[in-house]
Amino acid sequence: MTAVNLLEFDLEGLAAFCEKLGEKKFRATQLFRWIHQRGASDFTQMTDLAKSLREKLATTARVEALPVVTQHESKDGTIKWLFDVGDGNAVEAVFIPEDDRGTLCVSSQAGCAVGCRFCSTGHQGFSRNLSTGEIVAQLWFAEHFLRKHLKRNERVISNVVMMGMGEPLQNYSALVPALRTMLDDNAYGLSRRRVTVSTSGVVPMIDRLGIDCAVAMAVSLHAPNDALRDDLVPLNRKYPIAELLEACKRYLAYAPRDFITFEYCMLDGVNDQPEHARQLIELVRTHDVSCKFNLIPFNPFPASGLLRSPQPRVLAFAKTLSEAGLVTTVRKTRGDDIDAACGQLAGDVKDRTRAAERMAQRRASERTIVLHPVRKTTPLEH
Ligand code: SAH
Ligand code: SF4
Repeated sequence: MTAVNLLEFDLEGLAAFCEKLGEKKFRATQLFRWIHQRGASDFTQMTDLAKSLREKLATTARVEALPVVTQHESKDGTIKWLFDVGDGNAVEAVFIPEDDRGTLCVSSQAGCAVGCRFCSTGHQGFSRNLSTGEIVAQLWFAEHFLRKHLKRNERVISNVVMMGMGEPLQNYSALVPALRTMLDDNAYGLSRRRVTVSTSGVVPMIDRLGIDCAVAMAVSLHAPNDALRDDLVPLNRKYPIAELLEACKRYLAYAPRDFITFEYCMLDGVNDQPEHARQLIELVRTHDVSCKFNLIPFNPFPASGLLRSPQPRVLAFAKTLSEAGLVTTVRKTRGDDIDAACGQLAGDVKDRTRAAERMAQRRASERTIVLHPVRKTTPLEH
């Protein structure tokens, strides 16, 4: 029997595991605290657990981080890790320190099946879902590494954003226990307002998340109309903007914050024109969604064929939205010297699936309208 990695369990899962070992449920809380609050992986250290339990754990369980492939630290304190998840796949996590908080950007999948045009993860294609343990391992490792690295005894990571690689709501069953572990007072004790799920718009799962584990929500909008969004975020063909905005409104009934953050990646000449800003204003008014806009400077990569909008255009766009009463921020770029920005790892990660090629083929076929020759039918042919 291979030993179970205990990072796979939220507290409820760990309690069930302890029960299977013939232990009282409350032992799970002690164990959970050792692992997540203190960063312990060696059961012999856990001296307040009975020796018999420690011995059972030694043969049935383990607490194991993901192997670190690379670690880069930026001049501004941003740290990016690339973790090995096997079979040539790697995922990233990024720590972004600010004066009043420490944010960890976490990955949910190796690759992504949504295939957004401006995203290098999307261009890699989809390899596989991460397990709960692989999602939690990014936080477990980063938090306890940083405490030592920064010589801090108290918590370093105060916020988690699910904005690394992958579409979290397409890995729902692994995501929810991972979020619960982040929120649990016996583990990281993060506030619901400080854990953000970012999604390209998997409508049914937005509804489920509201019920199962409501945390802050960011939605990657990127376009003010379906024609453009169909092209930039292909999932829009399944869940068009109107359905997405209605799901956002429903989510607000559960959300810990009273707004949804709309992310909008500014692409030169594509979605950054004055008419796009006007359409956005109209859209959120029509659907009456309480929201904030976060304009993201595009991180260009050659295969996308797209360019970053010039800063004056981004600012003009932000001004138009703000003047219409929409709270709008422009995202600061951090860790530029280490390529820590979203989806910048394509070059580092082995492209096992020749995904870029497949994407190009798919796009070409989507754009081509096949004109079938029309044969004139004459009565004689019948
Ligand atoms: N799949 C989820 C979360 C991961 S992507 C989602 O799409 O929301 C996190 C954010 O980074 C999203 O808003 C995404 O649109 C943005 N992003 C992806 N590639 C980018 C790029 N090259 N430049 C700027 N933002 C990018
Ligand atoms: Fe996937 Fe998000 Fe990238 Fe789109 S932006 S391809 S949903 S990771």
